[in-house]
Amino acid sequence: METKIKISFEFFPPKSQKMYQSLWNTLNKLKIFYPDFVSITYGAGGSTRKRTHDTIKKFTYRPSIKPIPHLTCIGDTKDSIKKLALNYWKMGIKSLVVIRGDPENIKLSKKRKFITFPNGYTYSSELIRDLKKIRDFEIIIAVFPEKHPESINIQEDIDNLKRKIDLGATKGITQFFFDNNKFYEFFNILQKKNIKIPIIPGILPIINFNKLIELAHNCNASIPKRLKNLYKGKKEYEFKLSVDIATKQCLDLIKNGFNNLHFYTLNRADLTGKICSNLTKIKKLINKPYDAF
Ligand code: FAD
Repeated sequence: METKIKISFEFFPPKSQKMYQSLWNTLNKLKIFYPDFVSITYGAGGSTRKRTHDTIKKFTYRPSIKPIPHLTCIGDTKDSIKKLALNYWKMGIKSLVVIRGDPENIKLSKKRKFITFPNGYTYSSELIRDLKKIRDFEIIIAVFPEKHPESINIQEDIDNLKRKIDLGATKGITQFFFDNNKFYEFFNILQKKNIKIPIIPGILPIINFNKLIELAHNCNASIPKRLKNLYKGKKEYEFKLSVDIATKQCLDLIKNGFNNLHFYTLNRADLTGKICSNLTKIKKLINKPYDAF
């Protein structure tokens, strides 16, 4: 029997007209994989509030695509964030990725500090509570298979997850990870704790291995030795290698029953497109095989 998988894509809101054009080109290439939804990030430090909103609005003109905005607690008052959410609802947007957000230029080496905006939210659970009071949004939350960098231990993350599920969150998307075993271990802990919401693995194709090391460090995502060895003596960006790594990771996830995958596209079609195309060819997973990539 054919396994059907659902895929989704994350994009960031473009900064200029030219970048919008580039995003539509990316979308036109990736839509052949029938994404379940596309999510639009909210820039670090709350920097893209208007751009996220404007991008979502443009997506609503494309009825075949379901856009989901990210909404963070950062850089704004509670009232203003709630107003934005209500506006989304009026636009027909019923699902939100709700996260706390991070200050710009966070580094794990320095003690990170989240500063609550005056009359703002401190934790995403507070925002979820208020959103659910306003409208019955579908709430998607962030999940950290290798622990959130600020949490003291995994139990703190689990308590936080439970809190958000009790408040109405119904789905999680993970931080990117490269060691599937760490993800499976974490998932098993959730099962034992009776946390049963769907958890969608977040897949990050590697664009620049050197930069990834710092990013992964800041996000608490470990880079397995196997990956470091693969990049030894190679350029920091190797298209084929990056595609092979992510394709293998996805196939292993699918083999282990994770049939929903979320791709951090970084607004590029080539890598994610090739990975999805591989999946269709190897496993005939997404409707029918595509040769466009
Ligand atoms: P929270 O749930 O608020 O938790 C943050 C920390 O506080 C954790 O350590 C938690 O244990 C602790 N905590 C929570 N509640 C309490 C409490 N009541 N008492 C004590 N401690 C508590 N960032 C952006 O800026 N824009 C984006 O668009 C964006 N999209 C993302 C999408 C995904 C899928 C993921 C995985 C991350 C995304 N991020 C984004 C990053 C995210 O904002 C950061 O990882 C942030 O630090 C954590 O968000 P959260 O919602 O998990 O935070």
